[in-house]
Amino acid sequence: MPPDVPPAELAIRARRVVTPDGTRPAMVRVSEGRIAEVGPFDAGPDAEPVVTLAGDEVLLPGLVDSHVHVNEPGRTDWEGFASATRAAAAGGITTIIDMPLNSIPPTTSAGALRVKREVAAGQVHVDVGFWGGAVPGNSPEVPGLVRDGAFGMKAFLIDSGVPEFPPLDQAGLVTAMEQAAALDSLVLVHAEDAAAVGSAPPAGGTGYSSFLRSRPAAAEIAAIEAVIDAARRTGARAHVLHLSAADAIGPLAAARRDGVRITAETCPHYLALAAEDIPDGATEYKCCPPIRERANAGRLWAALRDGIIDCVVSDHSPCPPELKRRGGGDFAAAWGGISSVQLALPVVWTEARRRGFPLDDVAGWMAAGPARIAGLDGKGAIAPGHDADLVAFAPDEGFVVDPARLYHRHPLTPYAGARLDGVVRRTWLRGRPVSGDRPEGRLLARRERAS
Ligand SMILES: [Zn+2]
Repeated sequence: MPPDVPPAELAIRARRVVTPDGTRPAMVRVSEGRIAEVGPFDAGPDAEPVVTLAGDEVLLPGLVDSHVHVNEPGRTDWEGFASATRAAAAGGITTIIDMPLNSIPPTTSAGALRVKREVAAGQVHVDVGFWGGAVPGNSPEVPGLVRDGAFGMKAFLIDSGVPEFPPLDQAGLVTAMEQAAALDSLVLVHAEDAAAVGSAPPAGGTGYSSFLRSRPAAAEIAAIEAVIDAARRTGARAHVLHLSAADAIGPLAAARRDGVRITAETCPHYLALAAEDIPDGATEYKCCPPIRERANAGRLWAALRDGIIDCVVSDHSPCPPELKRRGGGDFAAAWGGISSVQLALPVVWTEARRRGFPLDDVAGWMAAGPARIAGLDGKGAIAPGHDADLVAFAPDEGFVVDPARLYHRHPLTPYAGARLDGVVRRTWLRGRPVSGDRPEGRLLARRERAS
């Protein structure tokens, strides 16, 4: 051990440790909650306790899920900080960033951010950061939100589903981006174009195909073109949330080649599920933008491989079962949102391995990628100086999804009964095992940038 490595309080070793330089046998020494060293598996005996993972376990970096709707306060009956973060930890996610809606108040002012932080304090099982929101008229609030630690601003270009978080028009989007550029922040966009959706045939009844036609790919592409245009004009950083339409990949790739500062995420359900398989009336599959056809999903995987899509995050967005209208199965009336924070890793891994991607790629998409986009420099990788957020993952163990074993407030899920690969056996947060009865997560604030 080099002399500048501080004494460790814990070491975890495994035959397969997923590091930024590849997977290899290693011992990870933890000191004061951070990774002090990633050394040889057989490093000499030391004073600290050594945890040796089982032969079928891989040590992964704790995942970062930058797209979670916690909804507390105000709609805590939809999802709350305690249940959401417990589900996250059980799914190998050690950091979430909360979306600025559907809580009341929405996180559109420094005062609202304070309320959210007060409510979250003392009940989170993983580390939690907060996105702010950009809505019409709140631009005077944005500098305070950024100053107080919001990681960026989320905006809609179409009805958000809740009245207290209205969408921006194109001029409003440009204003938000100008502000983001001045504050060295970023704007995250729900990219569906209101006019394009408005001119599509309306969703009606229980048929999934009718719902799918009501949220066409063209609406996503039009909105993404508008985001690209605003990012190009302002020089601001933009991030496309929950990309579903594969036809948008070409414009995104072209914009990036031109130097436009734009990134994109997709979600487990767009990668692992297909419109062709969705039964009529199965509103647990409803989300916006919608799950599209199988061929579309294949192109999203290709964009992940090519680095055009940067990360995979859950968009965990639950609601009470009555709002999902399971009884009548009406897609137009049902709330749009899929609960999956606890299942995101096995859902993605099951499909990734089938397509020949290694766990290193999954860690890149679900840990390092979201950390990079949010500016969480100390998260998302097993590397010295990073927080010791770690996961013992058994990639070859299968299981059948039993909703009764989900910690989400509402277990309604499109994955019920699905056979998945990959079991999270243990999770460590800053070097301490996460347990269900000891909420030791911290509330994170975006650091001031040095540059
Ligand atoms: Zn969302």
